[in-house]
Amino acid sequence: MDFELTEKEKSLKEEFDAFFKEEMKNAPPEYGNGGLEGLYSMEEGFAFHTYMAKKIAEKGWISMAWPKEHGGREASIMEQVLFGQSRGYYDAPGIDGFAVGMFAPTLMVGANDEQKKRLLPPIANGEAFYCQGWSEPDAGSDLASLTTTAIRDGDDYIVNGQKTWTTGGHRADYMFLLARTDPESKRSKGLSVFHLRMDLPGIEVRPLLFMDGAHVYNEVFFKDVRIPAKDLIGVEGEGWTLTRQTMNFERSGSGGMAASKRKLEKMIDYVKSTKRDGKFLSEDPIVRQKLVKIYIDTQVGETLAYKIAWLQKKKDMMNVISTASESKLFGTELSQRIANFSTEIMGQYGQLEASEWAPLNGLMVELYQFCMGQNIYAGSNEIQRNLIAWTGLGLPRMKMTK
Ligand SMILES: Cc1cc2nc3c(=O)[nH]c(=O)nc-3n(C[C@H](O)[C@H](O)[C@H](O)COP(=O)(O)OP(=O)(O)OC[C@H]3O[C@@H](n4cnc5c(N)ncnc54)[C@H](O)[C@@H]3O)c2cc1C
Repeated sequence: MDFELTEKEKSLKEEFDAFFKEEMKNAPPEYGNGGLEGLYSMEEGFAFHTYMAKKIAEKGWISMAWPKEHGGREASIMEQVLFGQSRGYYDAPGIDGFAVGMFAPTLMVGANDEQKKRLLPPIANGEAFYCQGWSEPDAGSDLASLTTTAIRDGDDYIVNGQKTWTTGGHRADYMFLLARTDPESKRSKGLSVFHLRMDLPGIEVRPLLFMDGAHVYNEVFFKDVRIPAKDLIGVEGEGWTLTRQTMNFERSGSGGMAASKRKLEKMIDYVKSTKRDGKFLSEDPIVRQKLVKIYIDTQVGETLAYKIAWLQKKKDMMNVISTASESKLFGTELSQRIANFSTEIMGQYGQLEASEWAPLNGLMVELYQFCMGQNIYAGSNEIQRNLIAWTGLGLPRMKMTK
């Protein structure tokens, strides 16, 4: 297998790297170590996200993969991988994963022409920020059991119910909502997808504070919220089919792997420059063994990301699904291994987050706290294992029974 980039790809990668390296100099101190906390918890962090979104949009990079009819330039999968790697490596904000990664492709397959014209350009221009309204207190892995209703009333749908874990819901302009339009229906029947303005009367967003007090997640309550019928996406009652497609818009996982690689590089610098009992940590045989294991894992993770890109190019969608699950599973568990290793060798200092004594500015303790969530969101790792068993190994499909 030859992973050598073409000359065109090499110069593109250099352009992406130079852009992110330069622009990240503008990150305010409140952006901290980046990630979701950097993005959503402080006003200044979110302002930097919107600034970066505009900059990336000016380059035409938000919509570069989109079909020409929607203003994109149909960039190759490899170009998208390189962009994701570069952005992930520099931990740069500016791409709204909900808008760009999930809702825009959903609109392309499910929306009518008027909706595409109205809703896609603000996403491409980095002007519209979304949150994802799927999970409820009693509907997570078993999403089809959700109970929030949206009942047709004249030219509107009236929404009642509750969503939870809504990442960035307090910052978003819009939500893509999955709700039950037929109250008599069961499970995946009678569900519909909506584009919803977050400033509509009757919407209450309550913070769901993270263990370190950061405000990233929310509960969202709906009390007789009126959504105009023109914001129903696709066919009423067939939202599950559309939502399954949203779930399948694959990401190569390259950004996450590149972010892990950068963290590993920081740890390599740390062990080379930190002494314990008169010796550099880099001379400790156990530290070296563990670091090398993580290094090999990052190489495996990167190869998985390239494999997804290659399968996407071949349009081998069944294998894309199982390999994307492998990548999600491997990447999130790798993140956890990096966090465990790092906080372990940093000792008690490794538990400090906001202090001049915090190694690497508290990066690893933040990762330590955050990485458990990574194993749960976007389909928990147990669900990913089920998917790999079914689509990858050909084992019988697990059915939800509720
Ligand atoms: C940090 C974070 C951010 C999130 N952001 C959003 C968001 O922005 N919008 C949104 O809509 N949702 C969001 N979620 C919700 C997320 O999608 C759900 O938490 C997830 O789907 C799991 O659902 P649950 O929490 O209800 O757990 P449950 O589904 O109740 O699962 C509990 C446990 O049982 C396991 N389990 C469940 N079913 C099976 C099965 N069939 N086989 C094997 N094991 C199983 C799970 O893996 C898990 O360990 C977020 C979650 C987290 C943690």
